[in-house]
Amino acid sequence: MTDLKNMIVFISGASSGIGKACAEAFAKQGANLILCARNINKLNLVAETLQNEYETDITTYQLDVRKRKEVKELIAKLPPKWKNIDILVNNAGLAAGLEKVQDGDIDDWEQMIDTNIKGLLYLTRQIVPTMIERKVAGHIINIGSIAGNYAYPNGGVYCGTKAAVRLISDGLRMDLVDTPIRVTNIQPGLVETNFSVVRFHGDEAKAKDVYKG
Ligand code: NDP
Repeated sequence: MTDLKNMIVFISGASSGIGKACAEAFAKQGANLILCARNINKLNLVAETLQNEYETDITTYQLDVRKRKEVKELIAKLPPKWKNIDILVNNAGLAAGLEKVQDGDIDDWEQMIDTNIKGLLYLTRQIVPTMIERKVAGHIINIGSIAGNYAYPNGGVYCGTKAAVRLISDGLRMDLVDTPIRVTNIQPGLVETNFSVVRFHGDEAKAKDVYKG
């Protein structure tokens, strides 16, 4: 197994759920972390807890991955100590709404497409060239979903975004074939996180129902 000690890992959407769990898993291995999310208070709390528990150095940034200019500026302005990112975990993502395509809320679609596809691409576009330039064995880990292989009723747009993550990962892997950089598409199944609360726009009871049984 690769020794992760002192490697620099960038995780998007680390304030909750799978991103937060990834942060803990990497911190446990002694990696140093750059964490980002929109909710900076939640994110700082995650960082503080991990720093108290593990031998890890963590820096946090408030970032909305949909904001292309801000993504570019953040990566360009990383302090020298944090510039050499070894692993990028493109995790920030969401489902918004659960409706037939013909009844869908277009704002929900825009949010999913902008976050799950475009946000992932913005970070990838800024970080991968720095890995190529340094000739390091970097790793891009994209959090897709089994929903990227099989659509489910009322989830067409979300599933479509995760199919895009799968195919972008496949394409990127080919693009990087002559480099030591690897690309992995993780496809989780049902994971009880804040995901369904976000999907149902804060309706906790409806969210709990998803995980019944
Ligand atoms: P959570 O809602 O618990 O976490 C989502 C994370 O993404 C939060 O940290 C959130 O932080 C961040 N995020 C959302 N939008 C943005 C944005 N525009 N910019 C920056 N960060 C953002 O859900 P999960 O942990 O379950 O989801 C993580 C990933 O796993 C997603 O890509 C999801 O599609 C995928 N997935 C989840 C499954 C599940 O069953 N839970 C199954 C398969 C895949 P903040 O709100 O602070 O910005």
